[in-house]
Amino acid sequence: MTLIFSGNDYKYELEGVMKLFIPATLFTHIYDDKIDTDDDFMFSRKKETKKYTLLYVICRYKGKICRQVKKLDKNEADENCDKELILSQLLFRAMSRLTKIIPKWGIITGIRPVKRVNAFLNEGKSIDEIYYLMQNRFLCSKEKCDIAYETAMTQKPVLDRLDPRSFSLYVSIPFCPTRCSYCSFVSQSVEKCIKLIPTYIQKLCEEIKYTGKLVRHLGLKLDTVYFGGGTPTTLSAEQLDMLMNIIEKSFDLSGVTEYTVEAGRPDTITYDKLKIVKQNGCTRISINPQTLNDEVLSVIGRKHSVKQFYDSFEIARKIGFPAINTDVIAGLPSDTVESFQKTIDKLIDLSPENLTVHTLSIKRAARLNHEDKSVLDNPADKMVDYATGRLLSCDFKPYYLYRQKNMLENLENIGWSKKGFESLYNIYIMEEVQTIIAVGAGGSTKLVDIEGQRLERVFNYKFPLEYVKHFDLMIQRKGEIKKFYAE
Ligand code: SF4
Repeated sequence: MTLIFSGNDYKYELEGVMKLFIPATLFTHIYDDKIDTDDDFMFSRKKETKKYTLLYVICRYKGKICRQVKKLDKNEADENCDKELILSQLLFRAMSRLTKIIPKWGIITGIRPVKRVNAFLNEGKSIDEIYYLMQNRFLCSKEKCDIAYETAMTQKPVLDRLDPRSFSLYVSIPFCPTRCSYCSFVSQSVEKCIKLIPTYIQKLCEEIKYTGKLVRHLGLKLDTVYFGGGTPTTLSAEQLDMLMNIIEKSFDLSGVTEYTVEAGRPDTITYDKLKIVKQNGCTRISINPQTLNDEVLSVIGRKHSVKQFYDSFEIARKIGFPAINTDVIAGLPSDTVESFQKTIDKLIDLSPENLTVHTLSIKRAARLNHEDKSVLDNPADKMVDYATGRLLSCDFKPYYLYRQKNMLENLENIGWSKKGFESLYNIYIMEEVQTIIAVGAGGSTKLVDIEGQRLERVFNYKFPLEYVKHFDLMIQRKGEIKKFYAE
């Protein structure tokens, strides 16, 4: 499909809107004042004259044409008038007519819709004003406004008591026993790089010690710790013990309010590993079935069974973690609405403190990708609606929400929580309100100064081999953290 821009350069935003309707499409971009293509196209025009600004889009899709126009008088089209937004709205309306699809998040294409609600709340806007803006500016459905607003309300007490000198520590363990078909993370399967793991851990311990010294020097207070990946419990009990010990020696853990270890794949979980992580201070653990349907698990390449999930959950309960999270994915290939509903019902019966409902996102780097068009027909919307209804009726509250590129039906991932068990780390990272210092391959440190409204990132090397090889260079880069706090 050809995207033609005339008098404007809103390429990123308008292509984002097009993707809401036709996600698995390749776009060609042209800057021209005329339409000269036999292909389907989107033509966007911004024409400024002394008296008015004319904004319009013309779309041709599958042989049908739709045109949407807005003319602004000079006094309307002043500097505060967001012409990019208006063109996005026009395009949204044109494509809705042509495709008969009405994406529920409207023209919100970014990954953090709740951030907009939080920004409106900080500006002192009332609930009515927020709904008006979300629905009329961003063309968001009432249903998505509800979930975004509800999420912001759950977050409010957490955000209100945030200490600006606090930070979270993210520890990256980018290894998994095998690779799931929908995964595009940098995680490496153990089958491929088992030899690298001891060297990786040794370097990771060095980075932890270095980071501990750095934050002591800067006078930062550790608030939460998060072991993610990959699947941290791919490591042995001894390796986990060693890492957690180094963390304890390197940081002051007395003010830590939450310590999460993603156990993720039930096929990596043993009693010994969970016992060790609990003894070392872990307060929250994630055990992710993704589905409670063995056939679906096999289709997506998860090498574990539903029974292994139940066994792992039972072990975690016996050991006594204060909070257990379970992740599921709506829209998995071969899953059905009925089977997904059963998964949700059975998980609610288990009564986890957190339940995270993801929607499948089709990643180019994953084995399961757009080449298999059948995955796009999955009724993820119905699944997510069911989960939302059931969880709300069981006193779960949405506490964080984010979207990824290429999610089925432009839906979202929602973290649900029982009251008082909201994962602080997930709120911080999603709302970008606290510094997260990352250690390990693939880690990305996010430096946040809310008062000064500054946000900077420092990246570690992505792959474990690069991380080990260029370790010294990467440690030098961490000097950016000092500079950030010195300013
Ligand atoms: S467990 Fe997670 S990180 Fe590991 S391969 Fe599967 S989806 Fe990817």
